Amino acid sequence: MTALVWHRTDLRLRDNAAVDEAMRAASGQALGVYVLPARPYEEVLPEVPRWSPRRLGFLLECLDDLAQAWRALGSALVVVSGEAHEALPEVAAAFGAREVHTAPCLAVDERRENDAVFERLRRTGVGLRVHEETTLFAAEELPLPIDALPDVFSTFRRAVLGRVPIRPPRAAPSELRVATDLSALAEERTRRTLDAHELSSAREALAARDARSALPFEGGRRAGLARLEQWMWRDDRLARYKETRDGLIGIDDSSKLSPYLATGALSPREVYAELVRYEAERLENESTRWFVFELVWRDYFHFWVRKWRARAFARHGVLGRTACGVADAVAFARWRAGETGEPFVDAGMRELCATGYLSNRARQNVASWLARTAGVDWRWGAAWFESQLFDHDVGPNWGNWQYVAGVGNDPRNRVFDVRAQADRYDADGAYRRLWADA
Ligand SMILES: Cc1cc2nc3c(=O)[nH]c(=O)nc-3n(C[C@H](O)[C@H](O)[C@H](O)COP(=O)(O)OP(=O)(O)OC[C@H]3O[C@@H](n4cnc5c(N)ncnc54)[C@H](O)[C@@H]3O)c2cc1C
Repeated sequence: MTALVWHRTDLRLRDNAAVDEAMRAASGQALGVYVLPARPYEEVLPEVPRWSPRRLGFLLECLDDLAQAWRALGSALVVVSGEAHEALPEVAAAFGAREVHTAPCLAVDERRENDAVFERLRRTGVGLRVHEETTLFAAEELPLPIDALPDVFSTFRRAVLGRVPIRPPRAAPSELRVATDLSALAEERTRRTLDAHELSSAREALAARDARSALPFEGGRRAGLARLEQWMWRDDRLARYKETRDGLIGIDDSSKLSPYLATGALSPREVYAELVRYEAERLENESTRWFVFELVWRDYFHFWVRKWRARAFARHGVLGRTACGVADAVAFARWRAGETGEPFVDAGMRELCATGYLSNRARQNVASWLARTAGVDWRWGAAWFESQLFDHDVGPNWGNWQYVAGVGNDPRNRVFDVRAQADRYDADGAYRRLWADA
């Protein structure tokens, strides 16, 4: 029997429950599969594609790396495009698979997709097994059900940190293999998929990297591991993380691990395990503790999006507040293009468009400006971020947007004064000059 691992936001083999379980179920006869969207540039709003070409290019780099990892162990990754509920039964039939294993972040769309895939696979006698491992803390080990997730982050943090054990990462798989004719078939199908014109244009868009980018790294696990090693160990930047993390330009001011965590090239437990080793071998201070808080924020929003389901994407947010912005297409277009006339906001929006990344400080400001100052529907901003960000991660993106827009979980319901923020975090104007020529 062969088992399939349906990769989604888990583009790695190590510390991956779906890979481990597929390997066990099929005595090592496992094969990876990734389903690219059939129409990646389809507009979710006027002039807002689901994927920007650059973001898609970054994903393709991650897939190249994952394909190599499967190959190195004697198996292969099949990349197809289409609707998952149509593509997966077809791939399962072509490769003689009886089980499919997957481990997505379970937001509402992923649940729907799972249901549709489950039903279609069932008709052909193939099983779908969903593993819930995208977070530091295992969902089943939380001291409270996900539906009772606290509205305030610090309440959640206190309930888990130091109380719930964080499991060490799972070992890397040792024995993944498929028959030679199947791996040849997988390679051939992947090549055919990746030759599509829109995918080569995505690679070209990514290749035109902007030299000003704070994120000059490639996609994929090897690049993620190299970044972790460099930032944490070689350059020792974790030691000063708390003081530098609000930096707007510096490559090393923050870890820049988000694209690797969001695509699953690295798992949060792997990053945490390195942090624990760092604290044991080098130092433990406010910065190391703060970095853990950020990883816990990521967990919080992964559980948040599961708890709130459709309300995570609803205009009135999880709080059901009424002040939540209007459909102002003109203001939205100016914001997207970085032409609001507010230099700090314009700098951020131009950076995002040119690079696929934005620091946390800049994200907070541009988001607050759109939703609170210009009064535009926050969901439009979230959709634009989703389209552009290399690190787009459904819970952290939509959760942070609700938080900043005042319809989510910010107990202080802050509105950012972007000029005061610019004076404080860009005192010499270097960021505004770099991106907005102001
Ligand atoms: C409006 C808005 C939208 C956002 N959208 C995303 C998104 O789509 N994907 C995403 O990963 N982060 C998102 N963030 C959170 C944060 O801005 C990024 O995680 C961070 O800037 C990534 O850079 P870094 O890896 O250098 O972070 P570091 O400061 O080095 O933090 C380490 C890791 O902790 C996690 N993290 C840090 N801050 C947050 C946070 N506020 N919420 C959740 N996780 C956090 C990330 O995984 C990050 O890689 C958003 C924030 C805002 C305000």
